[in-house]
Amino acid sequence: MSPSVLKNLKQYFGYDSLRPSQIPVISSILANQDTLAIMPTGGGKSICYQLPSTLLSGLTIVVSPLIALMHDQVESLSKNGINAMYYNSSQSTEEQAEVRGILNEMEKYGHTNWEGSIKMLYTSPERLLANDAQFLNYLKKVPVCLFAIDEAHCVSSWGHDFRPEYSQLGKVKDLFPTIPIIALTATADELTRSDILVKLNLVNPKTFISSFDRPNIHYRVEAKADAYTQLEEFISGFKGQAGIIYCLSRKSTEEVAIKLTKMGIKALPYHASIDGSLKQKAYKQFMDDKVQVIVATIAFGMGIDKPNVRFVIHWNLPKNIESYYQETGRAGRDGLPSEALLLYNAGDSATLRKFIDNGGTAGPMISIKDRDMFRSIQHDKLDRLLEFCQTGHCRRRVLLQYFRESMIKDCGNCDRCTNPPAKIDGTELAQKIMSAIYRTDQRYGVGYIVDILLGVSNDRMVKNGHINLPTFGIGKDLEKQEWMNYVNQLIDLGLVDIKYDGFIKTLSLNEKSKIVLTGGGNTDLVEYKAKIATPAKAKDKKHKDILSADQQIVFNKLRELRKEIATREDVPAFVIFGDAALVDMAQSMPKNKKEFAEISGVGKLKLEKYADEFLEVIIF
Ligand code: ADP
Ligand code: ZN
Repeated sequence: MSPSVLKNLKQYFGYDSLRPSQIPVISSILANQDTLAIMPTGGGKSICYQLPSTLLSGLTIVVSPLIALMHDQVESLSKNGINAMYYNSSQSTEEQAEVRGILNEMEKYGHTNWEGSIKMLYTSPERLLANDAQFLNYLKKVPVCLFAIDEAHCVSSWGHDFRPEYSQLGKVKDLFPTIPIIALTATADELTRSDILVKLNLVNPKTFISSFDRPNIHYRVEAKADAYTQLEEFISGFKGQAGIIYCLSRKSTEEVAIKLTKMGIKALPYHASIDGSLKQKAYKQFMDDKVQVIVATIAFGMGIDKPNVRFVIHWNLPKNIESYYQETGRAGRDGLPSEALLLYNAGDSATLRKFIDNGGTAGPMISIKDRDMFRSIQHDKLDRLLEFCQTGHCRRRVLLQYFRESMIKDCGNCDRCTNPPAKIDGTELAQKIMSAIYRTDQRYGVGYIVDILLGVSNDRMVKNGHINLPTFGIGKDLEKQEWMNYVNQLIDLGLVDIKYDGFIKTLSLNEKSKIVLTGGGNTDLVEYKAKIATPAKAKDKKHKDILSADQQIVFNKLRELRKEIATREDVPAFVIFGDAALVDMAQSMPKNKKEFAEISGVGKLKLEKYADEFLEVIIF
């Protein structure tokens, strides 16, 4: 990275280095290239367009579906010395006119010395495209240097957050053919990805997919038994620290919030039928650390931008692994240790299946066939989630494998790694399964492969001539359920691949299967027991404290000061400094302004503004 990139990174954001996944994305934008960046929640997407913007001459337009978040983003940027504004329907006519006034000035005077003017404008797709894209057309008079399309998966009707206005965003490229576009999302599946490239009309786009690993999140799944006691025990380890609890129904958000309040924990419910202004208030109080826990349906979702959420609890089953990963990903965006707890109750899956069949999640579909296919995929995805809950293997391995990312070794930071169930050498079982897949040309799903092993000679099997295969019936010694379980374990471990193509699911072999088939390496599997279905209550210990007792005292004082300043300036506390910065201060105890400038998260403007106050707390 060139020195000017790093200089601006420190000056405006206070960081010394980019994360490895940010580097190629930023280079691509600076090379004027259309770019698609796929990064997990908390991966650091914002800097990917904010930093290049500070290096380019002109205005950056950020398109975001989340009007509620624009204010905080603009606030954060301004505190870092980057002038930003937003333009959306939540503003009064006067406020909107003020923004247009500023843009008019740019039109007249050009836009090179940006520190005196605005650098970034956040807007919604509706605002940009309303009245035949009036505002987008108007922007042609302004020196625009970059378009950033956040939450870009909203263009895809396959995705879970389809927004019809997003599919019109192809007009941006039509009207600004030479201006680079960066599209960003945390949704990884291939269908959505190609939809984004096509619908946004990107020209020779470069796609970058970051690792989806969130190493600071500890995963844990517990059978839901005495749920409120489990909840109380768990939350007691997080005194005063922020958390989100996800529930399936509005009613349970209210019940859980009331219970927590009775336990002396400040909690508020959040769901779609809560009045708008109350919802905003709950959101603000949570952002400002005045409410510790939000108990929410998934309505409290996309883009919760609070960096210091220390835990996420799933009170009910999420609908699939994507949702689970995105929801748990709202914990620990600041990189500090955080927990994800899922309370597993198999009964929830019946409710979820009803949702799917009633079309609750189907979105706008065109034909009955498409609709049925969509539902069938949703059921399969739910099956994968249930397997994740019941797995005996490292949770992170199973999650990452779902996103087609392999781990070299188990993570050591999940309940299964801490309390691993007994394993058996499953090499022979795996070889039998793989050879059945191979001999049937990798064209069948789990059920069919298991039937081959069991030697089930039904019509289809006879017609396909598979009763003559040497693998036919070689697995008669085990029950159907056992084989199904072992095949699923191989999928979870990435030893065989599963492909979804509409209604058809097929198993196929990959590089790792070849190693097993040729006798290389052992395949450890968890022995099938009908009972392993419900995960036991994990007894593993909490994540390690990262601060010593003395450092914790300093940290608490710094947190108080941060709250005081945040109240004074009427912004969320993390806009002043993130928890990671406070932890760094408590650990390295800077003695003067020069040392304070070294703290991660301290940029030029914040150094001037806040160093004295914070140093006073640190030194005394
Ligand atoms: P995303 O939008 O991908 O969920 P954010 O852009 O909100 O993630 O970034 C998550 C957190 O990581 C923020 O607190 C941000 O300041 C921090 N962050 C991003 N890039 C870096 C970096 N290079 N060094 C340190 N912290 C970073
Ligand atoms: Zn693990």
